Amino acid sequence: MKIRILGGGPAGLTFAALMKKHDPSHDIVVYERGPRDATWGFGVVFSDRALEFLRADDDALYQYLMPHMESWPNLTIVHNDTRIPITGNGFAAIGRLEMLKLLYAHVEALGVRIAFDTEITSLSQPELEGADLVVAANGAFSWVRAENEQKFGTTIDWRPNKFIWYGTTKPFDSLSLTFRQTPQGVFCAHHYRYSPGMSTFLVEVEDQTWQRAGFEQMSPDDTIRLCEKVFAKDLDGHRILSNNSYWRNFPAIWNERWSFDNVVLMGDALRTAHFSIGSGTRLAMEDAIALFKAFKEQPTVAGALARFQAIRQPPMKKIWDAANVSLRWYEQMDERMTLDPVDFAYSYMTRTGRVDHAEVRRRDPGLAAAYERLHPELASA
Ligand SMILES: Cc1cc2nc3c(=O)[nH]c(=O)nc-3n(C[C@H](O)[C@H](O)[C@H](O)COP(=O)(O)OP(=O)(O)OC[C@H]3O[C@@H](n4cnc5c(N)ncnc54)[C@H](O)[C@@H]3O)c2cc1C
Repeated sequence: MKIRILGGGPAGLTFAALMKKHDPSHDIVVYERGPRDATWGFGVVFSDRALEFLRADDDALYQYLMPHMESWPNLTIVHNDTRIPITGNGFAAIGRLEMLKLLYAHVEALGVRIAFDTEITSLSQPELEGADLVVAANGAFSWVRAENEQKFGTTIDWRPNKFIWYGTTKPFDSLSLTFRQTPQGVFCAHHYRYSPGMSTFLVEVEDQTWQRAGFEQMSPDDTIRLCEKVFAKDLDGHRILSNNSYWRNFPAIWNERWSFDNVVLMGDALRTAHFSIGSGTRLAMEDAIALFKAFKEQPTVAGALARFQAIRQPPMKKIWDAANVSLRWYEQMDERMTLDPVDFAYSYMTRTGRVDHAEVRRRDPGLAAAYERLHPELASA
């Protein structure tokens, strides 16, 4: 098969690797508009059992990536000056750049060509001529999706909170969510170590807080200085670092139909899942696994693309729904900060509706007991 992939992110690269490994006669090219050694952002986090989902389908890739990940069994919620460690929530992280470099080497060793610095801007471009399959894995702002919204049945829901993706040299010892009340409103930092000396430090605020803080008119340096001031106790003198960092709103993207003709969407181009559930990269890689499996089951492109949506949509929709409930929790963080720290942490743990009291007890008996002291009616439940 002649396969042309737009976008050398986790989705496109994982799919290229699986297909080429399964059948080396496939002619696969990944077109990446960026240079080999550049990318945005700092680290990405995987919830639950990290790359476990990959193990059954590509053990070699799993074994290759795992040693490069930082992992911790716990999560810490910081409610102003009260720290609440929560057990039973495993996470793993890796630098986005490091992960992509590992994936580049892996797919190239299998015989896939990655054409860097090559932007594809039209489906009739010569690079795509004669392709049996065109995979649009070109991220949340995919033009393939935008130009074919009717065909895909696209919806984009721009959420009101503002966030900015920074890094810092402070190596945090667990995945942490720090909420600090300021005169302008609540500031939340999602922070975690992704290499021995680096952590992601993503700051999120409600829109009113963003307005009151005057971020719209503020220079990038002043923005960093204000965030450093708010999180001074958490940063311990370490600086916040920018990497093409700017304030954004999160687009919750969905598509009713995932393909037309020989063109299919995958990864963030297909759907976005809010970063607060740590699943964007994982979902992108799981899409790739599902599309690969669909091709193993169905020899024709049309059959495989239909099969892809049939097998992938139900499990993916569950996580997408949970992500959308999770992002709404952050949209009320100012109101929630008035809660007692234990109530606040409990509200966080149960925010998506997928964790009930019995599950909190199983994951963290200490938190469940503290919550039951505040709510004795639950003790006998
Ligand atoms: C602030 C923020 C924090 C995040 N935090 C996490 C996290 O903690 N954990 C997590 O798992 N996920 C996180 N994510 C999400 C994660 O980064 C994405 O879900 C994941 O990278 C999606 O992979 P992808 O391959 O679909 O797309 P991308 O990684 O976006 O890759 C798409 C690629 O396509 C290329 N491209 C675009 N247009 C073209 C074109 N026309 N021609 C050629 N190439 C093109 C781009 O350069 C890019 O390299 C975060 C995202 C954001 C914005």
